[in-house]
Amino acid sequence: MHSLTKTALSFNGIGWRCVSLNRFSETRIICRGLTCAAEHGEHKNELYDVIISGGGMVGTAMACSLGLDPNLEGKKILLLEAGNKKVMDKVPDAYSTRVSSISPGSATLLSVGAWDHIMNMRCKPYQKMQVWDACSDALITFDKENLQDEMAYIVENDIIVAALTKQLENLSDQVRVQYKSKVVKYTWPKSHQVADAIPWVQVTLANGQTLQTKLLIGADGPNSMVRREAGIPTVKWNYDQSAVVAVLHLSEPTENNVAWQRFLPTGPIAMLPLSDTESSLVWSTSHRHAEELLQLDEESFVDSINTAFWSNENHSELVETAGSLFRTALSVLMPSAGSARQLPPSVAGIGPKSRVMFPLGMGHASEYIRHRVALIGDAAHRIHPLAGQGANLGFGDVACLTQLLNTKHRAMQHLLEYETERQRHNLPMMAAIDLMKRLYSTNAAPMVVLRTFGLQATNTLPAMKAQIMAFASK
Ligand SMILES: Cc1cc2nc3c(=O)[nH]c(=O)nc-3n(C[C@H](O)[C@H](O)[C@H](O)COP(=O)(O)OP(=O)(O)OC[C@H]3O[C@@H](n4cnc5c(N)ncnc54)[C@H](O)[C@@H]3O)c2cc1C
Repeated sequence: MHSLTKTALSFNGIGWRCVSLNRFSETRIICRGLTCAAEHGEHKNELYDVIISGGGMVGTAMACSLGLDPNLEGKKILLLEAGNKKVMDKVPDAYSTRVSSISPGSATLLSVGAWDHIMNMRCKPYQKMQVWDACSDALITFDKENLQDEMAYIVENDIIVAALTKQLENLSDQVRVQYKSKVVKYTWPKSHQVADAIPWVQVTLANGQTLQTKLLIGADGPNSMVRREAGIPTVKWNYDQSAVVAVLHLSEPTENNVAWQRFLPTGPIAMLPLSDTESSLVWSTSHRHAEELLQLDEESFVDSINTAFWSNENHSELVETAGSLFRTALSVLMPSAGSARQLPPSVAGIGPKSRVMFPLGMGHASEYIRHRVALIGDAAHRIHPLAGQGANLGFGDVACLTQLLNTKHRAMQHLLEYETERQRHNLPMMAAIDLMKRLYSTNAAPMVVLRTFGLQATNTLPAMKAQIMAFASK
C-alpha cells in the first residue's frame, strides 16, 4: 500500500489547463474520513494519482502502460470499468466478429507485455492491402518492400482486452482495477481554491463509493461521460451508414495475407484475414441495407458479399474510357510503376450467429485536456472504420500521454503538449478518412473520374504510398 501523504507530496502539477500555474498546498492531508467499504475493501474518498475511467482496449492499455513505467513507480493508479472482467483461460474455437487491424506502431506499444500474450493467443499478420473502386478499374495496393515485414495484424478485440487484462494481473502492485464499477458522477475541482474545497477530481460510483484523483483520464468511449461532464466541446455527427460485421468461411484455403477493401457507392466492404480459411467482414452500408443484410438467410448473405467484391455492375463506359486513357498515359510516363489487380478469395459461408451491425459516426473533442482531465481513445476521437485506425489512434494517445506523464517536469505545458501532439496526428487522419468516405459515397461520373485519376496516379507513386503507409502504421 502506498503512503498517501508521500504520494500527495511528490505528484503534483498534472493537468493544469487554467492560466495560473500555482501549485496546491501539498501539506494538507487529502484523504479525509477514511472508512472501509467492506465490499471492495476500498476507502471512502481514497486519493489516487491517476484514475482511468473506462477499461476498453484503450483504457486498459493506458493502465498497463502507466503501471509498467519505472518512472511512475509508487504512484497510485486505478482503472475503473463498468463491465465485467474479461478473462480468457482458453481461446475460443470460433473467431469473434469484433476485430481490429493493429498497426506495427500499436503492436510496439502493446509489446509492453501484452503483445506476447496476443501472439500466444491468436492474431493474423498480413503483408499486403488492395483497395479498389467498384465504379471503375482504379485500384491501389500497399505492400512492404520486404515481404517478410508485416503491414499490420488482425486481432480480435476480446483477445486484445484479455491480453491486457492478463498483463494488469502481473502489475497488481502498481495498478488497482475495479470491474463492475460504473462512474455516475464527476465533481470537478475549483480552479480558485476556497478554504475548504477539495482540489482533486471526485469520482462517484453507482455503488455510492467516492474516490478522488489528481488526474482523471477519460477512456470511456465515444459517448464519454468524462468529456460531457467536463463540458468539452465536441464536433460530432452520425454517418448515413452502419457497419455489418461477420466471420467469413472462405471457399478454399489460401495464404490469406492480404486485406481487401472495395469502395461501393453505398460504402466500403472489407475482408480482413483471420486464418487460412477464415476472414472478417466489415461492410459499411446504408442503415436500411445493413438491416436487410442481417435478415438474409446465410446463402443469400454470402451471395451478396461475393457480388459486392466481384460484380462490375457499377462500371460505366465513360469512366472506363477515361480511366483507361489515363492509365495508358501513366504507363508511358512511369512504365514500371503501378501494380497488378489481384482477386479476393470467394466466400462460402459465415460463422454461427456472427452477423452484427453498428451505426457509424464521427466525433472529435476540441480539447483533449482540461484542469486535471485528459481524454484518450474514442472519448477524444471517433472515426469511420474504413481505414481501421480508431483503436490505433487511441494506442497512440496512450504512448504519448505516458511519455509526458513520466517526465521529471510535469508542468501544464506537458499535458498541452499531449493535446498538441495528438491533435497534430489525429486531425489530418480524421479529415482524410472523412474525405474518403464522402468521395466514395457517390457514383456520379465526374466524381468517379476524378477519384479514378487520383487513385491511379497515387498507385504509381511509390514514395507517396510509402508515406501513407508510414503515417498509418504509427
Ligand atoms: C465496425 C468497426 C470496425 C473497427 N475496426 C477497427 C480496426 O480495424 N482498427 C482500429 O484501430 N479500430 C477499429 N475500430 C475502432 C475501434 O473499435 C475503437 O476505436 C475502439 O474500440 C475504441 O476503444 P476505447 O477503449 O477508446 O472505447 P470503448 O471500446 O468504447 O471502451 C470504453 C469503455 O469504457 C467503459 N465505460 C463507459 N462509461 C463508463 C462509466 N461511466 N464508468 C465506467 N466505465 C465506463 C465501457 O464499459 C467500455 O469498456 C472499429 C470500429 C468499428 C465500429
